[in-house]
Amino acid sequence: MRRISIFGATGSIGVNTVDLINRAGGASQFSVVALTGGANIALLAEQARNLGAKLAVTAFPEHLEELKRALEGTEIEAAAGPDALAEAATRPTDWAMSAIVGVAGLRPTLELAASTRVLALANKESLVCAGAMLQARCAAHKTLLLPVDSEHSALFQAMRGEDAAKISRLILTASGGPFREWTLEQMEKATPDQAVAHPNWSMGQRISIDSASMFNKALEVIEASVLFSMPQESIDVVIHPQSIVHSLVEFCDGAQIAHMGAPDMRGAIGFALDWPHRQPLPVKRLDLASIGRLDFAAPDPLRFPALRLAHEVLELGGGTGAAFNAAKEAALDRFLAREIGFLDMARLVESVLENAYVQSLCRQTPRELRDVEQIDDAARAAAARWKNTL
Ligand code: NAD
Ligand code: MG
Repeated sequence: MRRISIFGATGSIGVNTVDLINRAGGASQFSVVALTGGANIALLAEQARNLGAKLAVTAFPEHLEELKRALEGTEIEAAAGPDALAEAATRPTDWAMSAIVGVAGLRPTLELAASTRVLALANKESLVCAGAMLQARCAAHKTLLLPVDSEHSALFQAMRGEDAAKISRLILTASGGPFREWTLEQMEKATPDQAVAHPNWSMGQRISIDSASMFNKALEVIEASVLFSMPQESIDVVIHPQSIVHSLVEFCDGAQIAHMGAPDMRGAIGFALDWPHRQPLPVKRLDLASIGRLDFAAPDPLRFPALRLAHEVLELGGGTGAAFNAAKEAALDRFLAREIGFLDMARLVESVLENAYVQSLCRQTPRELRDVEQIDDAARAAAARWKNTL
């Protein structure tokens, strides 16, 4: 039986992964090594019971007693906290999903790179903060890294069987989010509730707001550069409100190969789960005649400065991705706490990237987790001090 683990099983990606595992036979077909979650203990315990998991871990120690109670009468082991998450990630598997949100996913992901055969990676923050480290670890342990982000799964699928040296450009599509047609003045006053309402994709709260600001697309530009070894000037973003074309690869002869499908993350998750053999998936079939038209437009750099910042991060290189991600996470926390406005998030991130101390730490590419943590701490400290002086 295939041994699997799901990190972030209770989140949006995690629930979709569990759905596909259940459809593929659940406990009768998979040996579930570990499931992890956060504060939603009822869901984590239910998933662990249904799938007969050996171990369930909550990220938060204050929820351990509740998790133990919810698992009473079973043989499922319960654990809590970052060390327990990291330990769970050292347990050998054939396939593992990394779907914790944020830099909290980095440590378990680095462990998974050494303990699993196929690492399905939704946690893009790992690649942004420590791409070289993660890839080196996968290479050292012969672990196959498969992207689960829909754009990167699309790119991966579009370049399958092609000569990587003949790829000239990667074009990521972006829906444009809920503020695609808002003015700068409107965006200045946007609230968390307005930002979380994504038009096409149903996702976790943080990635939904990152989609509205295009910080998510900025992370994805960096993710694509790391995953596919492409220079920043060869990665473009095009707005495509219908989210039908999931991304495109351009080749030296001018041909562009696009990946299309319904906006349903089970497409990308299922592709990684079934690799290397495609299997039927419960995603809606596209009917282009009823869709009628597909629209494309250039992103507005004034309203979506995050994209420019992503290219600057790649230009600076070293550990700048870790600073960028930490500043972005801290900015989002301050936006959610209503301390700063929606467009302040990009101003804050830009000022952190210009901070001399942060820059000095970012000159070298992180070699160990503690290098990333040092940059992360410095960037968050600078982010906490930032004030809008406009
Ligand atoms: P989510 O918020 O729905 O779920 C996050 C999961 O991480 C939950 O299980 C939660 O309990 C857990 N978690 C939260 N804080 C944690 C912490 N401090 N330590 C350990 N675990 C913690 O998020 P999501 O939308 O499923 O996204 C997960 C990852 O996948 C993110 O990196 C996101 O960028 C990426 N991703 C998501 C989508 C999507 O459609 N949702 C698409 C592409 C990529
Ligand atoms: Mg994506």
